[in-house]
Amino acid sequence: MSARVGYDDLLFIDGEWRPSNGDARIDLVCPSTEELVGQVASATPHDVGAAVAAARRSFDDRRWSSLPLEDRIAVVQQAADAVTAMADDVGLTVTTEMGQPIVTSTGLARQLGATAGFLGDLARSFEQIRYDDGPAGPAAVVHEPVGVVAGVAPWNGPMGTAMSKICMPLLAGCSVVYKPAPETPFSVRFLVDALVDAGLPAGVVNVVTGRGETGTALVSHPDVDKVSFTGSTTVGRTIGEIAGRGFKRLQLELGGKSAAVVLDDADMDVVQQGLMVGSFFNTGQVCAALTRVLAPRSRYDEVVAAVSESAGRWVLGDPFDPATTLGPVAGQRHRERIEGYVRGAVADGATAVLGGGRPEGFDRGWYVEPTILVGVTNDMTIAREEVFGPVVVVIPHDGDGDAVRLANDSPYGLHGAVFTTSPDRAVDVARRVRTGTFTVNGFRYNNRAPFGGVKASGVGRDTGREGYASFWESKTINLPKRDADRYTASLSAS
Ligand code: NAP
Ligand code: MG
Repeated sequence: MSARVGYDDLLFIDGEWRPSNGDARIDLVCPSTEELVGQVASATPHDVGAAVAAARRSFDDRRWSSLPLEDRIAVVQQAADAVTAMADDVGLTVTTEMGQPIVTSTGLARQLGATAGFLGDLARSFEQIRYDDGPAGPAAVVHEPVGVVAGVAPWNGPMGTAMSKICMPLLAGCSVVYKPAPETPFSVRFLVDALVDAGLPAGVVNVVTGRGETGTALVSHPDVDKVSFTGSTTVGRTIGEIAGRGFKRLQLELGGKSAAVVLDDADMDVVQQGLMVGSFFNTGQVCAALTRVLAPRSRYDEVVAAVSESAGRWVLGDPFDPATTLGPVAGQRHRERIEGYVRGAVADGATAVLGGGRPEGFDRGWYVEPTILVGVTNDMTIAREEVFGPVVVVIPHDGDGDAVRLANDSPYGLHGAVFTTSPDRAVDVARRVRTGTFTVNGFRYNNRAPFGGVKASGVGRDTGREGYASFWESKTINLPKRDADRYTASLSAS
């Protein structure tokens, strides 16, 4: 086993790894050891231009989109299977990059082959042509790949993000320029090399590492047709403005402050199990994390005890140790931000009933204690802004209606959950909370269904049928009434 991190300035452009034309480099520092473990290039606008030009050429000459769908599926499947077969190395790389426990990072890498299998089935079932009848003749509604896709990614789930920002558009026949986050610049290389080995033509996928400036050059490039961005709401707003000016198709998967609505008939064991994963998985660095727990006033203490038990079940430690389930956060900057939020909450009147600081016994690594804050009201900064760490607030509510009101009193609308033993009450709350995704009695992420948010959590949907459909453009071809059958036959064969 070896982590694929190191020192180079290579970008993947037009089918080959080639050096950046600039001198800027980004350090990669391992979150658990604080050691410098590698460096990558920060791609210049010139590099980005070369990558977009390669993608554009490969899309315009149809070297990929004209292949039979089954051929495209085979390339993606073979590549994903190869990455799955290398799951130990992939996991070690991700753990070195962003500190995710090795059990999690290898486990997630092992799922990629199955994810590709699902994506292939989705592609097969996608309706390519539809006919809408009209008085003057039928209209054929054909679907065409959206074109050159700019994928800009965060660091908290690098392989899953690469699947939805590289493999999904590939299945649709698009060409891609992908910018991984500077925290996780290496892990995507496993997928890129596997795609090349599987026969992906040159130029169809390009990777540029870099910081925000690289991302800006990419999303503002006139030859990019669609921007698929996952990241913070602040950056999403900027990207949305840039993409809007260029009339680019846009998908923004942004932050959240998702509520877990606990009703007074909830089973506390289910609450405890659901919030264990929902609030603390990946050290709380999950966009959909349930970080605002709304507890019935009559059972408030029981809920706080359940959340504390959830936190206590995690084994915090060295992410390279297979016994560890909770690692450090991804960077020094990230820890500072989390600690700033906790300090601010305490200054606003909150109390940490668990955690609130750094765990004992770790003199290296960006560790944060799982933290539970009480004495919080929904208007405090800690209840409104995304912390992106293992920090949960518990806020009392006075019944289902009040809980729904509090859940909706948020700038965000990504995810949420309800805990109750009544299906009627579960469905009522699930329908009334305004989010793009919702879970009943737990925390379940299903990448076969659409995922995404409303309000400040974004625009559009990732994954699932809706996510796949976003890589297509519809074109209406109005056919003459006379001889319509001959035209439809031609279209079916096209
Ligand atoms: P981020 O700081 O917003 O960055 C995301 C990506 O955008 C990075 O590659 C970043 O590079 C790049 N970027 C920054 N400024 C840019 C600009 N002006 N133009 C183009 N690209 C730019 O987010 P992050 O810290 O990596 O990830 C955490 C955030 O992602 C959280 O808010 C989380 O909720 C969100 N997230 C959402 C979902 C979802 O599906 N809704 C899933 C996962 C994560 P730099 O880092 O160098 O700035
Ligand atoms: Mg960042």
